[in-house]
Amino acid sequence: MSKNKIQRVTIIGAGPGGLTLARILQLKGVEVKIYEREDSIDVRSQGGTLDLHVESGQYALRLAELYDKFQALCRPEGEDTIILDKTGTVYYEEVDAGHELNRPEIDRQDLRQILLDSLKPDTIAQGHVLRSIECLDNGQHKLIFDNGVTDIVDLVVGADGAWSRVRSLVSNAKPEYCGVSMVEVQFSDVDNQHPEISKLVGRGTLSALSDNKGLIAQRNGYNRIRVYITLRVPENWIVESKIPFDQPDQARARLLDLFSDWNPSLLNFIHSCDDSFVPRRLYALPVGHRWDSKPGVTLLGDAAHLMSPFAGEGVNLAMFDAADLALAIINADDLEQAIKDYEEKMCTRAAQSADESARNLDVFIGPGNTGQIVAEFFKKLMASMAANENA
Ligand SMILES: Cc1cc2nc3c(=O)[nH]c(=O)nc-3n(C[C@H](O)[C@H](O)[C@H](O)COP(=O)(O)OP(=O)(O)OC[C@H]3O[C@@H](n4cnc5c(N)ncnc54)[C@H](O)[C@@H]3O)c2cc1C
Repeated sequence: MSKNKIQRVTIIGAGPGGLTLARILQLKGVEVKIYEREDSIDVRSQGGTLDLHVESGQYALRLAELYDKFQALCRPEGEDTIILDKTGTVYYEEVDAGHELNRPEIDRQDLRQILLDSLKPDTIAQGHVLRSIECLDNGQHKLIFDNGVTDIVDLVVGADGAWSRVRSLVSNAKPEYCGVSMVEVQFSDVDNQHPEISKLVGRGTLSALSDNKGLIAQRNGYNRIRVYITLRVPENWIVESKIPFDQPDQARARLLDLFSDWNPSLLNFIHSCDDSFVPRRLYALPVGHRWDSKPGVTLLGDAAHLMSPFAGEGVNLAMFDAADLALAIINADDLEQAIKDYEEKMCTRAAQSADESARNLDVFIGPGNTGQIVAEFFKKLMASMAANENA
């Protein structure tokens, strides 16, 4: 790899991190190629809603000159928060608190579409699953894809998420199970079909938490609500519980059994949801994951610092990393040093969020009346934010 300017940057993965990097580089005239395993954006569910923070996700969108498009689609009122326990006792309610646009919500699919639409045609080679990478004697890297395509590149960026294949070039670290699994369900056309659920959840997020379990419901766009049925269970629970997640009636009944001492109004989240039950395990890389910088390869986002969603930072960090890496590449006099500096800054920043995320997970999905405990935590957080605003 040249020590100075680079002609082409090759990115593995068209998630929010990879797409943001590509967009900012293209704005500055750098040639970019993305290889993405999915055949199209509609191949799988794009997941729920994401809150983008001013200092990270929104900062990256401004640098990408896409902030106006984001503003047109985001939901500032999505910041509303309700926290209760399994009996339905509400311990915390923050509605229309006036922090608008600090952390507005956007559907993941909308965010991805804004970024995709901003790229030059043919930037992304879809349906390319990276199988392996070889480091060549001249410092370049040879990428080998499942479909037989190969490419020899100067700089490869692993933006390929939790199970990154690029990561193995720089680190032996593997994601570890966080002790918690989720079953994702949703309500379509919720205002018309389930007005009681719509009213209960309101405009933002409702978290019902107790006894190592949670029902976490989030308002999404397009008249939908998504619910994460969350449980502290062993890593192989999804298989060993023998819950037939592809058979809605049986899955519903088995999940209702697990929440049998919860308030009936909360059980409606399981009772009345659509017929799709998607189980997920939560994994994280070790807190403070870092590596010795190597020429011609780097990482961003989940590939570098996968963490549980309980700090709400994953996508924000991925986009912040992308912005920092793009600036490092564009402004570099010495590219190897610029990437090393980027990695140092990024890993230090991510370690703080990973630590917060691990601690939050243990509090949210812990023993006892976690609704009350988390509510106290939020009250203190809001009081300190208000104190800072008034200072
Ligand atoms: C249930 C859940 C809820 C979440 N909620 C939030 C939230 O509220 N706020 C928040 O900030 N974060 C949240 N996150 C985390 C957030 O989704 C991630 O941190 C974020 O998507 C990371 O972006 P990324 O671009 O690094 O990786 P990804 O979004 O994972 O994108 C990686 C891309 O690489 C592609 N890819 C993977 N392997 C290969 C391969 N071998 N070859 C080619 N392409 C490949 C994938 O198809 C994908 O398109 C949540 C995560 C989960 C699981």
